[in-house]
Amino acid sequence: MNVPLLDLKAQYATIRADVERALAELFAEQHFILGPAVERFENEMKAYTRAGHAIGVASGSDALLLALMALEVGPHDAVVTTPFTFFATAGSIVRTGARLVFADIDPATFNIAPDAAAAALAGASRNARRTVLMPVHLYGRVAEMAELSAVAARHGAPIVEDAAQAVGARCAGRMAGTFGAVGALSFFPSKNLGAAGDAGMVLSSDDELANRLRMLRTHGSVRRYFHERVGINSRLDALQAALLSVKLSHLERWNEGRRQRAAAYSRRFRERGLDPGPIRVPDPADGEHVFHQYVIRAERRDALRDRLTRAGVETQVYYPVPLHRQPCFQSLGFRDGEFPHAEQASRECLALPIYPELRDDPLDHVVETIAGFYRGS
Ligand SMILES: *Cc1c(COP(=O)(O)O)cnc(C)c1O
Repeated sequence: MNVPLLDLKAQYATIRADVERALAELFAEQHFILGPAVERFENEMKAYTRAGHAIGVASGSDALLLALMALEVGPHDAVVTTPFTFFATAGSIVRTGARLVFADIDPATFNIAPDAAAAALAGASRNARRTVLMPVHLYGRVAEMAELSAVAARHGAPIVEDAAQAVGARCAGRMAGTFGAVGALSFFPSKNLGAAGDAGMVLSSDDELANRLRMLRTHGSVRRYFHERVGINSRLDALQAALLSVKLSHLERWNEGRRQRAAAYSRRFRERGLDPGPIRVPDPADGEHVFHQYVIRAERRDALRDRLTRAGVETQVYYPVPLHRQPCFQSLGFRDGEFPHAEQASRECLALPIYPELRDDPLDHVVETIAGFYRGS
């Protein structure tokens, strides 16, 4: 039995007529850059997240970069983030010229540990003009925002949330991306709310930052051909916005489907005595995790992964090389063993197939293959 990591065709089958209608309307209008479709989606996202402003941009990576640009982060500043995340998080920091500072993760959540973040901010504030904290809500689980906000406030550090994997995730009722000064969302096709190509968004409830973000995404201009600042070209395509509007109305149900599938995995792993045991299932974070990925920790991870591949089960390792070990950051002087929890996670983590339409049969096949591997059969 073949079980893909993600099955976007199953999702598309359920929304096809609405998507085709929305795209046909857009082509009839021929308004592709900003305009009504983008404004509609921005307003819908604003209402959904209850952020003061929702600004569509070209990708999640650009959302992070624009957030730092709007905060005027530059060479005299330091930005603290996690070494266990997708490359774009750290890439955006280095592109501003700011110093990239890592703080290790909490092994229980895979997210930046508040005490490590506190130590990193304290260290960085000694020789930086200003510090910024950039937590990531990895796999769809909101980071410990209450503690992190308190830690950041102590250093006067604004927070930029990398909420690329966590659209729709909440913590105590508040949406991922609305805790900090700016939140960045990604609509990369495989994300929980995925476009048909690259797309992203910045959220902010600060009017001045929002104005700056709108300006920076169109070459720093408010009035056409008059440039207040040097920005970039990073707008959300109207085509993507029209598609995303259709999909947004399903997002809560899809996220609930992911949570149910995650609970089904975890229940079966516990029933078979695999957790606690050779694997560890992810914590559901009081039902607020949106399971962009369902990631277990596994003994003999690579051998298990090979077995799953042979059984037709697609898996992935997010992320095999923590960012402080990346060749492009070698000149920054990070050391092997400096962030032991991130390094251990990179050796043990394994993402299993998850999507709202994942049925019981393939899910059972994944569980049985894993159980067979640890039984030695
Ligand atoms: C996907 C992702 C991004 C970047 O988003 P793109 O839209 O692909 O540019 C940034 N950070 C994290 C943690 C991501 O998963």
